[in-house]
Amino acid sequence: MFHRALHGFIEVVCGSMFSGKTEELVRRCKRAQIGRQKVQVFKPRIDDRYSKDHVQSHDANRIASIPVDHSRQILELVDDNTRVVGIDEAQFFDEGIIEVANKLAYRGMRVICAGLDMDFRGKPFGPMPQLLAIAESVTKLSAICVVCGAQASRTQRTVGNLEPNATVAVGAKEMYEARCRFCHEPESHGQHPGLKGQDSEELNRVSS
Ligand code: ZN
Repeated sequence: MFHRALHGFIEVVCGSMFSGKTEELVRRCKRAQIGRQKVQVFKPRIDDRYSKDHVQSHDANRIASIPVDHSRQILELVDDNTRVVGIDEAQFFDEGIIEVANKLAYRGMRVICAGLDMDFRGKPFGPMPQLLAIAESVTKLSAICVVCGAQASRTQRTVGNLEPNATVAVGAKEMYEARCRFCHEPESHGQHPGLKGQDSEELNRVSS
């Protein structure tokens, strides 16, 4: 008899916006539930785009989730009989999330972290680099570049009326689009002929 329950590990699902990270997290968690494993999913309270108690991808695939204010709350809220811990929007967590993921894995749990690997400037996002480093398994998903149709690894911000240095701008799918390395414009608001519904004069004013 293998004592697999003792062998916890960390999986990271990362990529740009629109790359299907949350769908993949939800898919893995639902498969575990089908296998009668207890699953708990956590997300930072900041991510309240759709619902306060569900993780929901842009494609409306949902799973119950627990919003938390700080990474250490996860340790308090994880039940002993939980086998799989999902962590969505991991990039928004504090640095403590790294130790939390490690502790849960040492307790024998499968920890699945989903998050943006880069912010809209193309810089590594929050604790994601460390999570990627300590994970046993990493899945990097890509989206489709809306400019040239290539695989997109980056997230383009398309509006500028936010706080100047705000890295965190939650939700608002319409404020972002997926771009490849070559079409990504980290320092601008990325106007291109395909951009709809934006006032270009306003964008020019904001970005100047
Ligand atoms: Zn492109």
